[in-house]
Amino acid sequence: MAFKLKTKNDIFNLHHSSEFGKPVILKDDLEKGIEGEANRDGTIFVNSKMSDKKIEEAVNHEKVHLDQMAQGRLQYDNDTVKWKRDTQSPMKVYKRSEMNEGHPDFEWEAEAYKTESPLKKGKDACYSKVRSRYDKWPSAYASGALVKCRKVGAANWGNKSK
Ligand SMILES: [Zn+2]
Repeated sequence: MAFKLKTKNDIFNLHHSSEFGKPVILKDDLEKGIEGEANRDGTIFVNSKMSDKKIEEAVNHEKVHLDQMAQGRLQYDNDTVKWKRDTQSPMKVYKRSEMNEGHPDFEWEAEAYKTESPLKKGKDACYSKVRSRYDKWPSAYASGALVKCRKVGAANWGNKSK
């Protein structure tokens, strides 16, 4: 009988992109719609139901947040997100209950979204333009708008027609 040796990452339910000290932990119980989470202890949780490619993307995205936290620019607690663009900037405090976390308009998210795959970036004059106009994402309206934008081109989409 043949058997497959499990790698250490399999055993600990870590993704193969895990690095020592910065484990990427596969989770199937993340809140709905959450692809990844960066934690203060340096771990990253990713949604195990995604494709490998999506997982890599989510890991790259969350790594940016880990760096921001390590630099003291981004802080999370149960109620607030605190953000300081650089050492000269004042710290801004956001109430988590009143914000749309993960929205790419937040500066810390904009930095993280920049790292995502060229494919995503390329598609994505439209992606970022449409996404920035819709508070609820993903949604049927938003993906309809995305299709339309790609048809007419990002430069033309969303401009009032005369
Ligand atoms: Zn993010």
